[in-house]
Amino acid sequence: MDADIPYLLLTPGPLTTTRTVREAMLADYSTWDVDYNQRVVEIRERLVQLATTEPGYTSVLMQGSGTFAVEATIGSVIPPDGKLLLISNGAYGDRIGQIADCLKMPRVTLSCPETESPDLDQIRQTLADDASITHVALVHCETTTGMLNPAREVGQIVADAGRDYILDAMSSFGGIPLTMEEFHIDFLISSANKCIQGVPGFGFVIARQHKLEQTKGYARSLSLDLYDQWNEMEQKGGKWRYTSPTHVVNAFLQALNELDAEGGVTARHARFVENQTTLVQEMEQRGLRTLLPRELQSPIITSFYYPEFDGFSFNSFYDELKRRRYVIYPGKISQAETFRIGNIGHVFPEDMEQLVAQIELVLAEMQVTSGQTTSG
Ligand SMILES: *Cc1c(COP(=O)(O)O)cnc(C)c1O
Repeated sequence: MDADIPYLLLTPGPLTTTRTVREAMLADYSTWDVDYNQRVVEIRERLVQLATTEPGYTSVLMQGSGTFAVEATIGSVIPPDGKLLLISNGAYGDRIGQIADCLKMPRVTLSCPETESPDLDQIRQTLADDASITHVALVHCETTTGMLNPAREVGQIVADAGRDYILDAMSSFGGIPLTMEEFHIDFLISSANKCIQGVPGFGFVIARQHKLEQTKGYARSLSLDLYDQWNEMEQKGGKWRYTSPTHVVNAFLQALNELDAEGGVTARHARFVENQTTLVQEMEQRGLRTLLPRELQSPIITSFYYPEFDGFSFNSFYDELKRRRYVIYPGKISQAETFRIGNIGHVFPEDMEQLVAQIELVLAEMQVTSGQTTSG
């Protein structure tokens, strides 16, 4: 771990970035500056290249955290008479439902338990039974649990049924190989501060261009109008509508360069997989168990059950690990007591080993203390 950072963030965004990404933010730029806007143009092109080798795709950046980009997409691409089929097995899927409700948009939801993969036959049947469904939305890596959803299989079903497919690939894009065409994605949403390892401040959407072009006038919001933002960027050489997050954009371009230098998405995926398998192996050796079976687990973030001794307190565990310069993540599911450890960001298998060595010490201390309290 670099000496100049307070701790390693083992959370799924914001995450630990490199010093060089942070240094890219040291200059101030005007949003009217052509060099700056040229960088926006470059970023838009490179995002498309990361997602596809085929023509016909485009990208658009949107100010705000990832949820703003999700809301911009849901609120801008579904026509006034459209209907959403939402497939959800976690909090981020449910959030898409909340967005649709806020926008008073008709929706059908197929919910399944947080620890289960969606039922593909049920999705196929729902689409066959309801011709009014125009769009299907799914979360690729459900960061709530760490579940990797069958985004490619769902994409095939949606394409076969002739509907449009919106994928929240927020916590997977750039860290898990995929292409728009293989997954039949019409609109893919992600953000600056996840697998591409930039800092928070904007989200982006990669879209089939002719589909996006058809959405003019659909937006239910002015500032979150995806078509209008895209059109501005297209017509005005990388200009955003309204103030753009200039520092974040510069950091993001540096992050894209570092992704390439690492060897692209394949190499980054390999590192994340190694981080995740190292973490789980080390944790299991200390008797800690994962929430999900291996076949449903993503290489992005892992949920662990609380250890089984009486005096365990997540808050003290968290504080004690933070004192040792590791910041982990609380659980986010209702059915079981869990905490989460993310392994995306500028972190490596050695970090995972050192983290678990510290976890072992902290838990041993907590057990001793709780034993003393019980007997005393
Ligand atoms: C991080 C994340 C989001 C966006 O969350 P923000 O806090 O708004 O950045 C959306 N979906 C998934 C799956 C995520 O992991």
